[in-house]
Amino acid sequence: MAAKAPDLMSTIVSLCKRRGFIFQSSEIYGGLNSCWDYGPLGVELKRNVKDAWWRSMVTNRRDIVGLDASILMHPKVWEASGHLSGFTDPLVDCKQCKSRFRADHLENLDKCPSCGGELTDVRKFNLMFKTFMGPVEDQSATVFMRPETAQGIFVNFLNVQQAARLKPPFGIAQVGKSFRNEITPGNFTYRTREFEQMEMEFFVPPDNDAYWYDYWKEQRRSWYIEYGIKEENLRMREHATDELAHYAKGCADVEYKFPFGWSELEGIANRTDFDLKKHSEASGKSLAYFDNESNSHYFPYVIEPAAGADRATLAFLVDAYDVEGEGKEARTVLRFHPSLAPIKAAVLPLVKKDGMPEKAENIYRDLLDNSIKSFFDQTAAIGRRYARQDEAGTPFCITIDTQTLSDDTVTIRERDSREQYRVASTRIVEVISKKLSGKA
Ligand code: ATP
Repeated sequence: MAAKAPDLMSTIVSLCKRRGFIFQSSEIYGGLNSCWDYGPLGVELKRNVKDAWWRSMVTNRRDIVGLDASILMHPKVWEASGHLSGFTDPLVDCKQCKSRFRADHLENLDKCPSCGGELTDVRKFNLMFKTFMGPVEDQSATVFMRPETAQGIFVNFLNVQQAARLKPPFGIAQVGKSFRNEITPGNFTYRTREFEQMEMEFFVPPDNDAYWYDYWKEQRRSWYIEYGIKEENLRMREHATDELAHYAKGCADVEYKFPFGWSELEGIANRTDFDLKKHSEASGKSLAYFDNESNSHYFPYVIEPAAGADRATLAFLVDAYDVEGEGKEARTVLRFHPSLAPIKAAVLPLVKKDGMPEKAENIYRDLLDNSIKSFFDQTAAIGRRYARQDEAGTPFCITIDTQTLSDDTVTIRERDSREQYRVASTRIVEVISKKLSGKA
């Protein structure tokens, strides 16, 4: 039975540190609030999450192409998009203990939830990070770290559409870092000031927006389930009209049941033609699409599924976490979908003699040569080694034992069922590849 929330979150945070998934940034200097570093297992996991997203959004589709825009953009982008004036959160300070809070996260604004002190009036706080471009630190050199990747897509709309000769409906996808000076970051990697987004802008004829909005809501919900999130831990929440961003006609969040409560993983928004029109007005260059069939220009509507790579990675970690059995018999398992698992196979010679390590080394080499991320471990008793791999979420353990030396077969042990079977060592790559692709 898994640990109960809120303990579950601290258990996961310490497992992440111990096993090298996630470390606190600049830890030796006491850490930097809300900044985290992905260690050897974490970087593989997050990369697999982003790859899975890219495959389903770009690689496997004929109607979506990719883009990698720069983080720093012309300051006028943020003026036109409305971020300079409107990308704010309501902020209150405690006059006594000086703590800061997001007003919309407090149940009442009468007193400070930490010390009971008096709170200031609510004021707007812009979430964009400012910096200077070039050696002179003055107003004209001010640039912003992008708070969303989407604007890089909008300003490139015509470049991409014309270069790739695309016709609506089509999409442009991008994965990259974004920055928001959040008032109250927290819950581990859930809300940070530097994070990675996976966003796709889908450009459609204006009268098709309702169809594509529903389509993307369903696609994106199914993606999390396909990669292992339990259905009961996922829900779709449609925004009320007064919650909608200034540019949106509709918005729904895919929410995950984190140990700290239901929280947003991804938002699917109908951004209408707001962004393309605003950039056309502000830049003086029309971003309207020319439709050959009707021989006229129009501004496509945009349906945007915007996900967070860090939030998705955290949800996959939390959902995969399981403890089986009790007391000394308990085993911790991360039941990752095989495509997301940081390490796919562990190669374990039973003992460090009789030619087993050499045989194991050859198998290990063969797996790596076939791009199957593997791990070699010949220390400790075999049970301990299995336990280590269960805790890292490795789906397959390959054990080289006495029988291997006589008939050239190995044992494959599956993480979830603990089932074991023998396979000829010449067929290991084939068997593991099939299992990883879900075809076994
Ligand atoms: P929230 O309401 O949680 O602040 P949001 O609705 O402002 O999020 P969007 O602007 O829709 O977020 O951004 C799309 C996605 O980017 C979010 O669903 C989330 O996964 C991710 N994201 C946004 N802000 C952060 C953050 N501070 N830390 C980590 N991920 C974030």
